[in-house]
Amino acid sequence: MQQPAIVIASEEHADELLDEFGRYQRDYDLRAVRSAGEAEEVAREIQASGGQIALFVSESVLPDAEALAAFHLWRQIVPTARRLVVAHWSRFLDDATRLRAGLAKGKYDAYLLMPRGVRDEEFHTAVCELLSDWGSTVAAPVVETVRIVTPQQDALTLAIRDFLDRMGMPNLVHLPDSDTGRSVLAKLEPGLEPTYPLLEDVRGMVHSPRTVREVAAAVYGRPEDIDVDTVVDLCIVGAGPAGLAAAVYGASEGLSTVVVEAEAVGGQAGTSSMIRNYLGFPRGISGMRLAQRARNQAIRFGTRFFTGWEVTAVEPGTDGRPHALHTDGGVLHARAVVVATGVAYRKLGVPSVDALTGSGVFYGSAMTAAREMEGLDVVVVGGGNSAGQCAIHLSRFAKSVTIMVRRDGLAATMSQYLIGEIEYNPRITVQPTSEICEGGGDGRLEWLDVRDTVTGEVVRRNAEGLFLLLGAEPHCEWLPDRVARDSRGFVLTGRDVPKQSWVEGLPPESLATTVPGIFAAGDIRAGSMKRVAAASGEGASVVPLVHAYLEPAP
Ligand SMILES: Cc1cc2nc3c(=O)[nH]c(=O)nc-3n(C[C@H](O)[C@H](O)[C@H](O)COP(=O)(O)OP(=O)(O)OC[C@H]3O[C@@H](n4cnc5c(N)ncnc54)[C@H](O)[C@@H]3O)c2cc1C
Repeated sequence: MQQPAIVIASEEHADELLDEFGRYQRDYDLRAVRSAGEAEEVAREIQASGGQIALFVSESVLPDAEALAAFHLWRQIVPTARRLVVAHWSRFLDDATRLRAGLAKGKYDAYLLMPRGVRDEEFHTAVCELLSDWGSTVAAPVVETVRIVTPQQDALTLAIRDFLDRMGMPNLVHLPDSDTGRSVLAKLEPGLEPTYPLLEDVRGMVHSPRTVREVAAAVYGRPEDIDVDTVVDLCIVGAGPAGLAAAVYGASEGLSTVVVEAEAVGGQAGTSSMIRNYLGFPRGISGMRLAQRARNQAIRFGTRFFTGWEVTAVEPGTDGRPHALHTDGGVLHARAVVVATGVAYRKLGVPSVDALTGSGVFYGSAMTAAREMEGLDVVVVGGGNSAGQCAIHLSRFAKSVTIMVRRDGLAATMSQYLIGEIEYNPRITVQPTSEICEGGGDGRLEWLDVRDTVTGEVVRRNAEGLFLLLGAEPHCEWLPDRVARDSRGFVLTGRDVPKQSWVEGLPPESLATTVPGIFAAGDIRAGSMKRVAAASGEGASVVPLVHAYLEPAP
């Protein structure tokens, strides 16, 4: 099989760079070129031969093009390759001012200084992160832990693959008459007509799942695998950042901990292609990989995960008895519960646009992404206050901001003070009676087709950023009424709990709900910040409260 390529473009330090990248020679095809034009030729040649390019490395100055212009050119040929600038120390100050803005706008992925000696592992950690990110999102997996056999990739197959990908389970699809397909079919009972898709799990067992949940159950087990008489210390509902953090801190501090997750781990964050504002990841990290790492960390401390199972109801325990959590796969009993079920942003429902989520298309106000919008034309969809605030924030960076709503204006849905601010802001325009029906671009959003809901006319326009604020709904329908919520359904905790539920004039602890032993963390909590770091911070902070509840001070 052809190795994926790393194309290194440098006129002045080509030999040094080639030497430095020598350690990747076993797994990658290293191609050194001296100019942007030569790199373009090599890229076209590799592409024409069916090969892949994992990484473009460019020195900060090339003889025939600016590094950013070169990346733009190469991106048109291979939009999926990661892009790295390696600068010589002598150019550090000049480059920093010239190239930093391009990094913030996502024109390339990382900026590194050339190693000054051997074994510069910091440099290579960054290179490996880029290659690993490329490998986990672009390349067909080389390692295959789950095999799927089907004559066609139908919706069920795609949903199963999405679940497996989000759980970090490399998988490939094989045709029934391929060698792998035949070997999997041979494991079926003789004479049994196969129902596709067939799935061969890590242990070599073959299943014929009809739903994603059946796959989850086959690979990760069912809640009823825990003996019905077992009472765990802590059951966490939801494995987004808040639930994962609660699991890591709960299990590491000695609590027997179980997590029940309705879908795959990661929650909303798991759907973000690049989280750039999470502390300690200067080059950003995909939400999926962050979640997989956190899950592995929690497992190392002894957490048990049940993924693919929705908690449908919780019966609060009375007089110190455990709480009972109901799922379609059995009932779990826990002395304390953390509700970390987050919110779901309403989706736009236009597949071509949703496919660019994270690449110019953002759900929620996406404060970090706002900086990337400098000098660009941006669209905000939504008529609520969050859409108004988002548009005002974006107008500090973007060239133009267009608020699109289906209604004939904002008056019915947005506060007057925000409408006033928007009217006086020269960069913001409101486009009523409009809906997005299509979108696309070269690896990132570039254009949108917008339909006038009155006339039906469709007009294509430029848009390099799309912020969807269609409303977020809390996942709380399964909670009993005794767990107090605000008018929008977000769980009330601490001082936000209505005074009549305070005990002896005192509010519950900060993350405690109105039911003793049931806590809430992350986006589901009324007044939460709706960020990965805030959710994981709350997940960590809830654990001492759980401890105090389980073992009250004498
Ligand atoms: C596309 C996108 C990009 C984002 N990018 C960023 C970013 O760059 N930086 C940033 O700081 N924030 C970002 N955010 C916001 C951030 O992801 C959220 O604030 C964060 O994920 C909230 O974490 P959480 O654990 O509270 O809830 P969630 O992430 O919503 O996780 C809740 C989990 O609970 C599960 N669940 C729900 N109901 C049940 C049930 N009954 N039983 C079992 N499980 C259940 C859900 O399936 C889900 O996995 C982004 C959000 C989105 C949607």
